[in-house]
Amino acid sequence: MKPSMTSHFSRVAFTYDRTRYHPPEVSGRIATALTAPVEKLFRDPLFLEIGAGTGRISVPIIARGYRYIALDDNPAMLEVLRQKVAGVARKARLVQADARELPFERGSLHAVIAVHFWHLLDDWQQALRESLRVLRPGGFLFEGWDQSDDESEDWRIQQKWKEILAGLGYTLVRGRHQSRLAEVEKELIRLNLEPKTKTVADWVELRSPRMSHEMLLERIYSFTWDVPEEVFRPSVAELAQWVSDTYPDPDVEYPIHWKFVVRSSRVL
Ligand code: SAM
Repeated sequence: MKPSMTSHFSRVAFTYDRTRYHPPEVSGRIATALTAPVEKLFRDPLFLEIGAGTGRISVPIIARGYRYIALDDNPAMLEVLRQKVAGVARKARLVQADARELPFERGSLHAVIAVHFWHLLDDWQQALRESLRVLRPGGFLFEGWDQSDDESEDWRIQQKWKEILAGLGYTLVRGRHQSRLAEVEKELIRLNLEPKTKTVADWVELRSPRMSHEMLLERIYSFTWDVPEEVFRPSVAELAQWVSDTYPDPDVEYPIHWKFVVRSSRVL
């Protein structure tokens, strides 16, 4: 049987942070970008993050003392988050619930944050409707995502894997995240909102070819989850061979240029 999305997130809960790491100053900049505009307009604002995961975005904001509800439907992801905020979570609430059915009153929140989230749901419209329902007039919907350059060795290795999969008769679908963001933007505009997009941080990560291969091998990324096991296994074995033929030392690290982008919309 094909594993569910929930079981994938339970599996990656403890490796998630290692592979989607934000340097501390980047976390700080993201926290500022998501709180400053809200704080300017509302006293003691209440934030909600849907699909909060292990708290990459929420922990730095919670640590600054904001009222914050971190919501996720996966207990393993939330458990990692719970351990991180123990001691600093005075004003934080961790809620296990489905973002498509938010257990909050209409107009009760000042900001809703969704980072790397919409592409995971086929019926993202329902989660978007719910996010807009719980926001009070003037409140902020923030969407955020990490974006890497496509000239890194990491990207090259991923493209090589795609090619190997094609050779095995499997077409890997990539870019679901970006296309979903475009769909959501269209919907926001249709609703007469005015989404504004801004890069709020950039940084360089060093990653070796061995690590790039391992991240595919461990099926960390959601774009790897649909590949059937009988294709996946030979594909990563062939990729391992290609990596060792291509890189004399697979532990030498190469840069990946990242940026974090925030799109904000204010509800009417
Ligand atoms: N926002 C976090 C970040 O950027 O680090 C986590 C992103 S992770 C890719 C997406 C999270 O959404 C996972 O923790 C997953 O369990 C959660 N999720 C998926 N579907 C959900 C749903 N319907 N309701 C609530 N959370 C959901």
